Amino acid sequence: MVQDFTLHTHTAGFDGKNTVAEMAACARNMGFGAIGISNHFIVHPNIRSANFYPFAVRGGYAGIYQYNFPDILEKYHAHYDEINRVSMDMRMPILRGMEVDFFDTPHWRNGFEYAVKTLKPDYVIGACHFIEYKGKLCNVHDMAAADHKDMQRMLDAYWAKVRRAAQSGLFTFMAHLDLPKKVGLGMSDEWRATEYDTVSTLAHSGVGVEINTGLFTDTCYQPYPSPRIISMLARAGVPVVFSDDAHHTSQIGRSFNRAKLMCDVCGQNDYLSLQKILDFSKNTR
Ligand SMILES: [Zn+2]
Ligand SMILES: [Zn+2]
Repeated sequence: MVQDFTLHTHTAGFDGKNTVAEMAACARNMGFGAIGISNHFIVHPNIRSANFYPFAVRGGYAGIYQYNFPDILEKYHAHYDEINRVSMDMRMPILRGMEVDFFDTPHWRNGFEYAVKTLKPDYVIGACHFIEYKGKLCNVHDMAAADHKDMQRMLDAYWAKVRRAAQSGLFTFMAHLDLPKKVGLGMSDEWRATEYDTVSTLAHSGVGVEINTGLFTDTCYQPYPSPRIISMLARAGVPVVFSDDAHHTSQIGRSFNRAKLMCDVCGQNDYLSLQKILDFSKNTR
């Protein structure tokens, strides 16, 4: 087995399809020793005026977008209680994680630090699904719809935000590093230097990176991040962990073997163990 745990997963009540118990049972049947649940932790005061919000309402997942901290804390306390209950019932380690959108304001940082103090997550995945551009909260689809000049600036803003997230000291490892690839952006050679800067920042900050297999499809035969970035991570000594980003039981552990082969080719052989990930969280809080 390439890796006998999985930490980047989503469940019902957020934007996943299955319950915590169903995800854990499936992981156990597949031979995993532990599973971590990392639902979205997204708080931004203007989130409901973003272009993507109406799509989320229609899609039935708007509940993952919160505009204040008390609401998300209440939701997360109940969610973590459920995880603890299921973990005890099943006698299986089910870890309490979160996939957190980093926002670079004192208000957000205070709110998030308080959330960590009270919720005590086992690990925290850093993510940048959004950038603030010209006063609006934008995602990768907004980037794809922009004209060339704005698109380039938005991509620059994206990578700058990833670097600040890495430097924040708040995250155990970073999610889907080259996320704009989802809509085909940022893949050309001109982004190599920006990626290199970002990898250097990650190395200096001591943050790991996930190899997210959610993108291994017939049309995009690579994970997040790209082989180009995986090679840079290997040379810079940044450790990695495999993530399936499972929103359904059928996606647990998807393409881990293929991702391992790609890491071998790229010279990446520094893997975060589960113990290392849990120790990181204990040592920083
Ligand atoms: Zn994500
Ligand atoms: Zn995710």
